[in-house]
Amino acid sequence: MSKPPSLWSDWHWNKHLQERSFWTIEPSTTDSWAWRRLLKLRDLALQFCKVSLGNGKSASFWFDSWSPLGQLITHIGPQGPRALRLRQDAVVADALQDSTWILPHPRSQQEVDLHSYLTTISLPLSPDIDDIYEWIAGDSPLRVFRSSTTWEILRPRQEEVDWHDVVWFKGAIPKHSFTMWVANYDILPTRSRLATWGMAITTDCPFCSRSIETRDHLFLRCEYSLDVWREVFIRCHPPVSTFTDWSELLSWIRAVGPAKLKLMRKLATQTVIFHLWKQRNNLIHNQISFPPASVFYFVDKEMRNIISARKHRNQFQSLMAS
Ligand SMILES: [Zn+2]
Repeated sequence: MSKPPSLWSDWHWNKHLQERSFWTIEPSTTDSWAWRRLLKLRDLALQFCKVSLGNGKSASFWFDSWSPLGQLITHIGPQGPRALRLRQDAVVADALQDSTWILPHPRSQQEVDLHSYLTTISLPLSPDIDDIYEWIAGDSPLRVFRSSTTWEILRPRQEEVDWHDVVWFKGAIPKHSFTMWVANYDILPTRSRLATWGMAITTDCPFCSRSIETRDHLFLRCEYSLDVWREVFIRCHPPVSTFTDWSELLSWIRAVGPAKLKLMRKLATQTVIFHLWKQRNNLIHNQISFPPASVFYFVDKEMRNIISARKHRNQFQSLMAS
């Protein structure tokens, strides 16, 4: 992480980081609430915080997102530093000698992905250009993260955002809202999006391998996801059987009827999207595969926790009774 210029970040830089990596630091019980919240949001921030490689001397090889594969410690796994013989605190330039990558022969699909990406980088890296940390929102990189600017860039100009109520509402879980927010803009790094960035990877859906992995296929049309939705549909009215696209999902959430059912559909949708995305990443990065019934089990368990933790709030009381 580079040291950005603001009083707030200076404070955290000196107090918590010094020379350690923001991505690996462990929270401590003496940390402030705000700092611990920020550390919890790291996984989400990673989807947006990218490094544009200059000389490779400050970008962390394992922890910064400098390739379309995202954080390599996640893509390759915790055994990566040993497998690639590169220390955890290595910078990208440590993987190079003169104009050659000095990595051992790949022994897993993840390592093959990395090697194939490395061949797209022209060498040697530019010695006089620093690595630049960018907050990527949509297709436009911002050199410094500002939530207002990110929002301005993400916000569609012509039309009002017509899903605001579905993403941000009282009682929502922040990490769920965040994934839903990114999904609404269709900027989650699905395989079809990675391919448009020039990455030579398969675009097959990781769940079914029969279609291209787009947002709408992955979350709405894939048989795997439909098995999860079917369980949700049984519990949420009005009953539907499928969604053909994202706008149908949004219309369903807002369907007329009692407010408590609308709240239930909002909560359920965010929880399903979050868990499907999590399961998809687990499958791709860790080869951990669960049947749809297990994903629904996680969704169901989390829904119960969300509702019972909020039982003293007015709008949630009605859900307790149902
Ligand atoms: Zn599929």
